[in-house]
Amino acid sequence: MVVGGPTTVLDLGGLRIVSDPTFDAPGPHGYLTKIAGPAVTAGQLGPVDLVLVSHDNHPDNLDDRGRALALAAPLVLTTGSAAGRLGQPAIGLAPWTSHAVPRPDGGQLTVTAVPAVHGPEDAERDADGFVNCEVIGFVLSGQGLPTIYVSGDNASIQTVTEIARRTPAIDAAVLHAGAARVPGKFRDRALSLDSVRAAAAAAVLGPAVVIPAHYDGWAHFSEGRAGLARAFDDAGQAAQLRLSDHGTWIPLRTSVIEPWKAEV
Ligand SMILES: [Zn+2]
Repeated sequence: MVVGGPTTVLDLGGLRIVSDPTFDAPGPHGYLTKIAGPAVTAGQLGPVDLVLVSHDNHPDNLDDRGRALALAAPLVLTTGSAAGRLGQPAIGLAPWTSHAVPRPDGGQLTVTAVPAVHGPEDAERDADGFVNCEVIGFVLSGQGLPTIYVSGDNASIQTVTEIARRTPAIDAAVLHAGAARVPGKFRDRALSLDSVRAAAAAAVLGPAVVIPAHYDGWAHFSEGRAGLARAFDDAGQAAQLRLSDHGTWIPLRTSVIEPWKAEV
């Protein structure tokens, strides 16, 4: 389920997982403006088992209520620098390191951090060598579960290609699209995937299901639902695209015979 902005809820292996939680009402957030509230409130979600934060320092990825939800959860997985800022219960993961989360059914969910580049490849890097700031994406996997890629704020097809090469059989991808642009930043170039690059990422990754997020709800997202529909149709990939209304569950299908419950 996409809640709005980047925020996505995944029910996987008996765990309720929220990525990049944002639950504030519309209004200004420093240099960014939120223009739509969440389709579902944090309270309506009930207990959350795991929160994924691709980066903590941009308000469109972690706003005030989202931060409160994260800090009330038993576990937050995020970047090393974000874990230092957030404190308990956040754990920092470097790209290509994993954390195992116990499942109520006795198995485990493996969360692997993957790289993300938050702007053009040649853009100015911060003191730590990151374009824009430190960001990670996530790959979720486990026995009997679909493998799901959650991109975080990433604009790099080169990075998506590396993730596809190193990750066997991604079944579903949550792609942060919307071509976020901040006036004056990197010559106004996109800080996340635009619609055409989202379709290209989907072609490289090859999942059966692509769920776009991070394409509406904030004023700095320059491409939205219509652009995504067109780009995927142009590429002949409309069958992958799931542009459901925010707040509605999107079933994930796989060839695994064993029944499992997994919805995004
Ligand atoms: Zn960001």
